Amino acid sequence: MSIITPILTQMEQRDPNEREFHQAAQEVLYSLEKVIDAFPAIKYHKILERMIEPERVVSFRVPWVDDNEELQVNRGFRVEMNSALGPYKGGLRLHASVNQSIMKFLAFEQVFKNSLTGLSLGGGKGGSDFSPKGKSDLEVMRFCQSFMTELYRHIGENTDVPAGDIGVGGREIGYMFGQYKRIKNQFTGILTGKGPEWGGSLIRPEATGYGLIYFTQNMMETRSETFEGKTCLVSGSGNVSQFTIEKLIELGAKVVTVSDSSGFIYDEEGIDTKKLDFIMMLKNVKRGRIAEYEQEYPHSTYTPVNAARDCNPLWDIKADCAFPCATQNEINEKDAQNLIKNGVSVVAEGANMPTCEEGVKLFLDNNILYGPAKATNAGGVAVSGLEMAQNSSRMVWTRERVDGELQNIMKRIHTMCLNNSEQYSTKGNYVDGANIAGFMRVANAMIDQGYV
Ligand code: NDP
Repeated sequence: MSIITPILTQMEQRDPNEREFHQAAQEVLYSLEKVIDAFPAIKYHKILERMIEPERVVSFRVPWVDDNEELQVNRGFRVEMNSALGPYKGGLRLHASVNQSIMKFLAFEQVFKNSLTGLSLGGGKGGSDFSPKGKSDLEVMRFCQSFMTELYRHIGENTDVPAGDIGVGGREIGYMFGQYKRIKNQFTGILTGKGPEWGGSLIRPEATGYGLIYFTQNMMETRSETFEGKTCLVSGSGNVSQFTIEKLIELGAKVVTVSDSSGFIYDEEGIDTKKLDFIMMLKNVKRGRIAEYEQEYPHSTYTPVNAARDCNPLWDIKADCAFPCATQNEINEKDAQNLIKNGVSVVAEGANMPTCEEGVKLFLDNNILYGPAKATNAGGVAVSGLEMAQNSSRMVWTRERVDGELQNIMKRIHTMCLNNSEQYSTKGNYVDGANIAGFMRVANAMIDQGYV
């Protein structure tokens, strides 16, 4: 019998409600089934059992006072998953849906993603069920200060270095960094995604979106294709989506969709740089809703979310490439069928685990060039790693240097995934390639470091 089944069964029995974590762990462990026989040390040292158990989970109360002077209480988390390769590293998510299962799935994915970058980074993730959406700047500041008042004792430049994720951009990182500095009386690189004038790296805001497109370019080159003239679907309108769209426009692609959690815009003419500037102003400064795009550009159409539908009409538009950049499980089986039916031949993930298990299988079975998140969106954490290096040396690198490093890292990750897929699975199965390549480095480090 496979050694995977009892491990997964025990995991599910221990924490029966952690659906997202089970989904992420299953995907990785089934890929690893292909290498277990070749590396008996994995079984001997119980590497899989240890990897699905976080080194530490911190859960804490976050009290803060809203603008009506009423006390609110949220729940904060930091999951420190694996430090075999370096300090825990991974973003903080502020969204109403946050719970321990989502934190664990994200932290687990982060371990393999960080390994793929080739940098010395362990994996972690954190956040809170507090949503900054609709809150005033002062409410967000009070929340962030309270959150950091507990989190500060668990992090450090050589221990755990959080960054941004959904709901955490430059504003939130600034408030959290300020509070850490006040409590510790230290100006150290304990967060990445900082402002460029106070320790942030150039290209960090762009890194996840740009990296996604660099990786996809590498995948497309294997079929002698480019982005020139390709029609692209992008979901989300936050950090990852914005810079994905920016790079796609630069490479001659036509992006026809953008969305938020309320609905999506279809702009048949394509989103150009002027329209993208409008989106960035709307989302980053005005903190408005994507529906306002239709008022500004009346030839476009806005479709509100309809929870009763069994699929998302955004993924039912004729296109060549699709970039899910919003959230987990945003492409269900029907959405995947629609994408394939409409001729999409490239799907690359900006968001973490945006495709359900059945969708992933459909993409692989239909020879879609499918780039899984832990490889395709690793550019963000890679440049965070470069931000840590700049902070340690008190240096500031140029945009060109950071962008060049990012391109090299994404190319290296692509090559590693492709080679591992060829060696252990099917050439071009980037799911197996990424899981196996990311895993081997962590597993070897865990074996070297003994039973900890
Ligand atoms: P942002 O908060 O900047 O943007 C998130 C976008 O997704 C918003 O448009 C948001 O809409 C939408 N969204 C969020 N939740 C849902 C939902 N449940 N249903 C539909 N739409 C939703 O986040 P990021 O762009 O930073 O992150 C997007 C994804 O990329 C996440 O999966 C994140 O984990 C992943 N990622 C991010 C990295 C980074 O560097 N930022 C690095 C690697 C991965 P609304 O405003 O209405 O909530």
